[in-house]
Amino acid sequence: MEVNRTQQIELNPNNKQSTLMGQHAGYARVAFNFALSSFKVGLDDDEWRTYVDIKREFNGVKYDKFHWCSDLSQNASKNAIHNFGDAVTRWKKGQNNFPVYKRRDGKCSYQADNGAGTVDVHKNRINLPKIGWVRMREELRYTGEISKVVISKRNGKWFASILVRCDSNTYKHQPPLFDDKEPMGIDVGINTLATCSNGDTYDNPRPLKRFERKLARANRSLSRKIKGSQNWHKAKAVLSGVHYRIACIREDAHHQSTTKIVRKASAIGIETLNISGLLKNRKLAKALSDSALSRFLTMLKYKAERRGIPITEADQFFASSKTCSRCGDKKDDLTLSDRTYHCSECGLDIDRDLNAAINLCPA
Ligand SMILES: [Zn+2]
Repeated sequence: MEVNRTQQIELNPNNKQSTLMGQHAGYARVAFNFALSSFKVGLDDDEWRTYVDIKREFNGVKYDKFHWCSDLSQNASKNAIHNFGDAVTRWKKGQNNFPVYKRRDGKCSYQADNGAGTVDVHKNRINLPKIGWVRMREELRYTGEISKVVISKRNGKWFASILVRCDSNTYKHQPPLFDDKEPMGIDVGINTLATCSNGDTYDNPRPLKRFERKLARANRSLSRKIKGSQNWHKAKAVLSGVHYRIACIREDAHHQSTTKIVRKASAIGIETLNISGLLKNRKLAKALSDSALSRFLTMLKYKAERRGIPITEADQFFASSKTCSRCGDKKDDLTLSDRTYHCSECGLDIDRDLNAAINLCPA
């Protein structure tokens, strides 16, 4: 069976390549906006223009209107018009709003492939049309046909998002890294990111807490600037830099812990988090959105799925924290501040999260 996998890799382009990528992104934006305005003109004339019509129109005028585009890869404009067509289709189905013009200071990205394997990847380099071999910060993890490559810029850094069509068996035949695989229950929380029923714990980096002052300072600095001014743009870049750092730290911690867990588990039991309900509790909301627990669980689920590890989600109303993991007695007066579970029935004294994890462990 074939599956699609995407890997996002940071690029390490030289100045010339970086400029060229920016030009391609600009070209994609111009083509998208051309398609949108042509489509709108069509609508005014009661004429439904398909993306094929628009592409033909664009190709007829592009070398006159946008003479600079002859040095660039035409994949950028072709894919942009395709994407516009998809956006219209989704809009017709009621799945998203009517497309809007892309702004110069908006998202900087373009799709580089032509859908027929023009993009080669060799070790830690990628060959982009009209740009050449660009260095990547890491190697592509998957083997198979590369079916889509999207180049984008975020916080001054370039990334390639590479979609690979690969054989799903690649994952199933991975050699077991631990011989003593065992069923595992996992309790997720704010204080400790994950507590496993075998006693392993993974800490939450809580980056927001660490970066709170930096974030506050960046926010304050932005609010003092005149909107749209050069200094405002600078302050905005600083702020998004702090946000980006936070996201990276969080993402990294989640990847490390979920990978460690799926390497050790033969089956996984988790609880169904009612995150939106929890977020209504204002005191918890900040800490919770910081640890991004739902993202953690999503990651754990897909990693388990890819390795064929069964994952069971406990019923939303299953009281994993309030039930004694030894005798099954239920303690209704347990509060969030009780860090230790003490059972009055059988005398068990156990860490609260560990108790919950054992209860979640699949039989
Ligand atoms: Zn008990």
